[in-house]
Amino acid sequence: MKKHGGTPMEKYIKYRDLIDDLLQMSVLFGEDGMVTYINKAAREQLQFDNKTDRVHISDIFPNEFERTATGFKYAYEFGSDIHDMMAYRKNKTCFRTETKIVVDSYEGLVYLCMIRDVSKSDFLEKEILRVTKEAEEAMKVKSEFVANVTHELRTPVNGILGNVRELISKEENKETLKGLSIIERCCNDMNGIINNILDFSKLEAGKFTLEPRRFCFRNMMDYVKANHINKITEKGLEFFMTISPDIPEDIISDELRISQVLNNLLSNACKFTSFGKITVEVVRTTQLGSKAELFFIVMDTGVGIDQSAQDKLFKSFSQVDATISRKYGGTGLGLNICKQLVEMMGGSISVNSEKNKGSMFSFSIWVDIPDDEVAELTGTEPDIAMHKAMLIAREMYENEQVDESRIYGSEKNKEELNKNISKLILSIEMENWEKAEMFVNVIRELTEEAPREMKTLALKLKMAVQKENTEKALESCETFGELL
Ligand code: ADP
Repeated sequence: MKKHGGTPMEKYIKYRDLIDDLLQMSVLFGEDGMVTYINKAAREQLQFDNKTDRVHISDIFPNEFERTATGFKYAYEFGSDIHDMMAYRKNKTCFRTETKIVVDSYEGLVYLCMIRDVSKSDFLEKEILRVTKEAEEAMKVKSEFVANVTHELRTPVNGILGNVRELISKEENKETLKGLSIIERCCNDMNGIINNILDFSKLEAGKFTLEPRRFCFRNMMDYVKANHINKITEKGLEFFMTISPDIPEDIISDELRISQVLNNLLSNACKFTSFGKITVEVVRTTQLGSKAELFFIVMDTGVGIDQSAQDKLFKSFSQVDATISRKYGGTGLGLNICKQLVEMMGGSISVNSEKNKGSMFSFSIWVDIPDDEVAELTGTEPDIAMHKAMLIAREMYENEQVDESRIYGSEKNKEELNKNISKLILSIEMENWEKAEMFVNVIRELTEEAPREMKTLALKLKMAVQKENTEKALESCETFGELL
C-alpha cells in the first residue's frame, strides 16, 4: 500500500476521498489560478466538471478574483477569515456563500477554498420576515376588530344597565325586582368580560400603556377591599388585610391597573373558596432611591390547584379544567392579563397552591415614591426585606393545614355543615333564593365524599331551592339535620 508522507499534496491526495464526501463545497487551485480539484458537493452546485472544464478561480468568484497574465489577483488576504462571496455557476447564475481560502505550499503554492452555501438561510430569513410581517398584519386587523366589537358590545350593555338601574330604583314588586337584579348582575359580568377581552387584545397588540400618577396607596387598598367584602362575608368567609407601615402614604404608579390585578386575584379567591379565610398582605421589599418594590400576597383556603395545572395558569384562555368554567364561569383571561400588567410594572407573579388546601398568589411591582415621601423613608435592606416577605408568605401558607372541613365525617365538616344548614334555613325563610343557592352549593361541596343517601339529599335540596319551593326546601333541610 502506498504510504502517504507529509507533503501538502500527498495530504490532499490522502484526504481526497474524504474531501470528496464532504457536504461542504471544496475547491483546490494553483498559483496560476487554475482549479485542480472540485469536490462532489462543489461539482453539483457549481456545475463544473473537474475533468473536462478548464476552470479559473475567477470564473467562480469574479467579484473577488481578477485573472492576470501570470495567475490572479485576490481582493483579500488568504487566511482564516471567512468572507461573504458570490459564487458563480457554469451557467453564470450565482448564489451567496461564506468562503474561506487557505494557502499551503507544494512545488509552488496550493490554495484550498472552502465554500458554504448560505443562500438557503437567506431564503429562510426572508421567509421568516415575510411570515412575521403577515402575522403582524393579521394581528393588527384582529385587534382592531376586537376593539371595535367590544366597543359595540359595551354600548348596548351599558344602555341596558342604565335603564335597569333606573327601573330598580322605582320598582316595588319583589318578584320583578329580583328579575331586574339578575339582569343588572348579568350586565356587570358581561362588562367584566368585555373589559378583559379589550385589555387582552390591547396587550397582545402592544398598544397598552400604563398611566402612572400620584395616589394614596391605602385608599386604593380600602377601595379594593370594599369591592369584595360583601361577597366574602356573604359566603361566611373571614377576611384579613395587612399593609406594612413602611409603605408611604402616596405612591406614583398606575392605580387602576394595580387594583385590576388585586381585584382579579381577590375575586378568584372568593370564587374558589367556600369556607375558611382570605388574606391580603402588602410589604415594601426594596427601596432604591425614589423607587420601591412592593410585594403583594393574596391567600385563600379554597379548592386549590393541582400542581400540574399551575404552570399553564398564567397562559391565556387557561382554566384548570372544563368543569371549572361550567361551574364557576370565566374566560381564563384574568391571570394572563395580571401577569402582563405586573410585568409591565417591572415585577412578576407566581402561585403556590395545593389541592383542597388553598392557593397563594404573590406578585411584585416597582413604584415611584414622590420626593416628599422619599425623605421620610428609612432605607431598607433589599434582600433582607424580600427574604422577610417571602418567609411571612411561606409561613402563612404552610401553616394552613389540609382543610378538615372537606373530610366528610370530621368534626370540622360537621360544624361547617351545621353552620351552612342554619344559614340556608334562614335564607329560605327570608326567600332570599340567591343566597340560599350559594349555601346549598357549599353544602354539596361539604358532602362530596358522603354516602349516596346524603349526596342525593343534598341534590334534592338544591333542586328545591332552585325551584324556590319553600316547603320542600325546608323539609329537606330538616331531614338533612336528622341525618347529620
Ligand atoms: P377567569 O378570567 O376565567 O376567572 P383566571 O385567569 O382568573 O380566569 O383564572 C384561571 C383559572 O385559574 C380559573 O378558572 C381557576 O381554575 C384557576 N384559579 C385561579 N385562581 C384560583 C384560586 N384562588 N383557587 C383555585 N383556582 C384558581
